[in-house]
Amino acid sequence: MKQKILLLGATGSIGQSTQNCCERYPDEFELVGISYYSNTEKAQECIKKFSTIKHISKTAEEIIEMVKTADYDVLVNAIVGCAGFAPTAAALTRGKKVALANKESLVVGGEVIDQILAKHGGSIIPIDSEHSAILQCIYGENRKELESITITASGGPFRELPKSEFEKITPERALKHPTWAMGAKITIDSATLMNKGFEVIEAYHLYKIDYDKINVVVHPQSIIHSMATFIDGAVLAQCGLPDMELPIQYALTFPERKFMIPTPRLDLAKIGQLTFFEPDYDKFPCLRMCFEAGKAGGTLPCVLNAANEVAVAKFLRNEIKFTQIAEIVETALSKHNRQKSESVEQILEIDKEIRRLYS
Ligand code: NAD
Ligand code: MG
Repeated sequence: MKQKILLLGATGSIGQSTQNCCERYPDEFELVGISYYSNTEKAQECIKKFSTIKHISKTAEEIIEMVKTADYDVLVNAIVGCAGFAPTAAALTRGKKVALANKESLVVGGEVIDQILAKHGGSIIPIDSEHSAILQCIYGENRKELESITITASGGPFRELPKSEFEKITPERALKHPTWAMGAKITIDSATLMNKGFEVIEAYHLYKIDYDKINVVVHPQSIIHSMATFIDGAVLAQCGLPDMELPIQYALTFPERKFMIPTPRLDLAKIGQLTFFEPDYDKFPCLRMCFEAGKAGGTLPCVLNAANEVAVAKFLRNEIKFTQIAEIVETALSKHNRQKSESVEQILEIDKEIRRLYS
């Protein structure tokens, strides 16, 4: 039986790689619907390539309608930002499987998503490479024997830049990621380490593990994608060359694996050295704020994300300095009166309010 796939954010970086997976295994995957945002040309190319596409959506309302009514087995959510949250919630409310690239879904409304999962019995399989790595390390293991997890971070392009130089960072420089080619927003989040902080919150919800058992280690080569430590001290790591096609394919075939055509295989002797460093929380305050907002919970992580989205967009438009991204997020967090997370509507309302305040 073919898996019917609904792909949100089909024109983006993850969206394109997901199309490649569908093309590679036409007998396994059937792309039945897509959403796109502004790139009509790329959307048209996709529609031409896959004659199986029956549903196409663009606006938020159309996307929700498609997710709620279309016939599909798995939703691949590759939308960027909070815009991906309501579609994730809608698919899980139907008890669907969600292959999740949109980590913001779990940042803004992780607690609401947890409630929906408990009530409707859907599932989330992560596409984010670190979380895919952890899944690959713990699958088949006894979860009670898991002691901690370690998320690796490339450290971004400014790992070695002195803090005094951060004010001068331009969008052009920040958009040059050392190991991964990704969309603009996540590339800036990787430069501030906000992305790593989001991944900590994402891991907390996916793996139901306390924040004090989630470690972050900087590993500039991006070969070890993350690790799991067990109660006997054993550490399992998942390694590979940095390429999102593997975690995307794994999310679709989980718990099975499929042959991956001509990608080069990892050759450790060729790489020679793998190095590791403690993250610098002083240079990268966004990472610290994610731990704090995640631990406090409720509506704070939603505020964290909304303020970050506004600030990153401003930075990309050259309206603020790189260092002001963290400042705006810190202000938004300190001024917010934290509430319990209750519903999708409440989260979207807070997201809107923070955008209004800080735009
Ligand atoms: P991208 O910018 O390349 O693509 C984003 C997609 O989202 C586009 O297809 C666009 O059509 C859609 N979109 C943007 N705004 C929208 C809106 N308001 N409503 C509906 N759709 C909208 O981004 P990307 O790099 O593909 O990342 C997508 C998601 O996957 C992000 O959440 C990112 O954090 C996550 N992710 C990406 C990578 C990667 O390697 N690119 C790795 C891990 C996780
Ligand atoms: Mg990642």
